Amino acid sequence: MKKLYSPKTIKDIQKLYGFKFTKSLGQNFLIDKNFVDKIIDLSEVEGENILEIGPGIGTISQEMAKTCKKLVVIEIDKTLIPILKDNLGEFSNIDIINADILKIDLEKVVKENFNGESFKVVSNLPYYITTPIIEKLVENDLACKDMTIMVQKEVADRIKADESMKDYSSLSIFIKFYSNLISGFKVPKSVFMPQPKIDSQVLKLDLRIYDKDVDRDILFKLVRAGFNKRRKTILNSLSSVIEKEKLREIFEKLGLKENLRAENLSLDDFIKISNELDN
Ligand code: SAM
Repeated sequence: MKKLYSPKTIKDIQKLYGFKFTKSLGQNFLIDKNFVDKIIDLSEVEGENILEIGPGIGTISQEMAKTCKKLVVIEIDKTLIPILKDNLGEFSNIDIINADILKIDLEKVVKENFNGESFKVVSNLPYYITTPIIEKLVENDLACKDMTIMVQKEVADRIKADESMKDYSSLSIFIKFYSNLISGFKVPKSVFMPQPKIDSQVLKLDLRIYDKDVDRDILFKLVRAGFNKRRKTILNSLSSVIEKEKLREIFEKLGLKENLRAENLSLDDFIKISNELDN
């Protein structure tokens, strides 16, 4: 079996298949076996159905296939498909799909490949579409247990931030609503080929905790409105969605100060405001 995490193998593959890195697709391949193993350990893939987004040349896929139940990889770059077929050909538990993760019908993929069973997501995510991919995976109410994802450090900081912290954003609230952040570790930029400008971080999001009683449409309309104008007070930023007088009443009832900004409100605060509107 080829050591896919080796720079020499990647160079050989480039020559053999005429493969060229496409920067706009976020192609930075892992070249350190330790980090491949750490991702797989954190995800706990053994005996599980796994969906991998952006397998590249199959570096993480090859290691996961040894112990997971079924592995489905979705790769947008058609020039990588023959490479994946050759590198992963010896495994009978892998399906390779050439598609854009943002366009593919995930419900259908999961139904056809995992027979309606639960699954996990593992991905060294393409940085240019990190947020839309996370949104698509968590919003669709698929039977996804958890996601182990590698993201740029800045995105990890936004995901992890609590209210009143510098990086607190609508993404922080979105993630808190849908998941429980279990743990993670830092990944230096030196373990990728080509080397990106920024370090990364691996995070694991447990998606099994979603049981909150709230209208999600209202909640996220409020969150988006609040953070779109994050320098304004929440009373002003939400006035595009709710009449100010109604909002004043709700704030008084909930004991929230009118001069707060979106960045000072917790997920629970936003849920309480949403539920008042839903009454
Ligand atoms: N998993 C490999 C590794 O860790 O070495 C490659 C990770 S690389 C950061 C991201 C991969 O995602 C690339 O192979 C890229 O072609 C693929 N990709 C980019 N956009 C995609 C999309 N919209 N749908 C599916 N795959 C995509």
